[in-house]
Amino acid sequence: MAFEEKLLLGTVVAKTKTEELSIRTQELKRGGVIPKLCIMRVGERPDDISYERGAVKRMQNIGIEAEVQTFAQSITQDEFLQALEKNNKDESIHGILIFMPLPKQLDVDEIKATILPSKDVDCISPANVAKLLTGEEGLVPCTPMAVIELMKYHDIEMQGKHVVVIGRSMVVGKPLSMLLLRENATVTVCHSKTGGLDRLCRDADLVVCALGKSKFLTSKYVNEKSIVIDVGIHVDEEGNMNGDVNFDDVAPVVAKITPVPRGVGSITTVVLAKQVLESAAKA
Ligand code: NAP
Repeated sequence: MAFEEKLLLGTVVAKTKTEELSIRTQELKRGGVIPKLCIMRVGERPDDISYERGAVKRMQNIGIEAEVQTFAQSITQDEFLQALEKNNKDESIHGILIFMPLPKQLDVDEIKATILPSKDVDCISPANVAKLLTGEEGLVPCTPMAVIELMKYHDIEMQGKHVVVIGRSMVVGKPLSMLLLRENATVTVCHSKTGGLDRLCRDADLVVCALGKSKFLTSKYVNEKSIVIDVGIHVDEEGNMNGDVNFDDVAPVVAKITPVPRGVGSITTVVLAKQVLESAAKA
């Protein structure tokens, strides 16, 4: 197999989906609905600003309005809740994205409980998390859903397959495990205390890396049949991006692999846009 054929590119998924969502947006606009996302950012974290830039550009490409609200790092709970409640009530806003983590003085649980579930496009509210657990349809977290979209687009069978997910955070690992169960995969969720991780990964059909350690996964974790999905994002001192997988070591061995960049990260804002449109369609 030619090396390029091994690559599960997120960029092609993003391009196709962007075109589909643009058509959907035009339909909504013809029906009098102007879809709009509101991003609430506290502070000036470079990662947030970089994601925000990508998200705003994606919304613009699709025709969705995007408003960015920025708040000082010193904002109080009352001030933030007031702004959130205003956005909840604002009928021109269909999706609200709040960057996490929030500063220590803010009560994140109260904020998660305040965001209107129907506008909660990254699935942080207890009501939407509960739906994810019960398998009910609803808004889901964008990054885990980007993994599912990537696999579906590239015809990677999930039903009946054994998937090892490395990472159990509420941002990626746990919700992804729930979404994989919906696809009838058999899921093993691994974490920092898991023993025999290399053997578990080698025995799996698919390995998803979401552990936040640059170039962690090496060729000893995989075999020639492995399909490897890398959710990790790291930028080194020279500004080069890499993932949780040691790509140069792993790619020659496995059947399929996502690159970083051009992998999962390319699809996250597309899922975000899709969910804004779903909320707008129900408004
Ligand atoms: P996180 O909150 O730090 O969670 C990391 C998880 O990995 C934890 O469950 C941890 O286990 C586990 N882990 C750490 N070291 C391990 C090891 N040696 N062996 C097995 N498991 C280990 O990270 P996150 O927020 O889920 O993010 C994970 C990665 O995804 C990061 O690289 C992040 O940059 C990336 N990310 C990408 C996107 C995107 O759009 N593509 C979005 C969000 C995050 P314990 O629970 O035992 O501590």
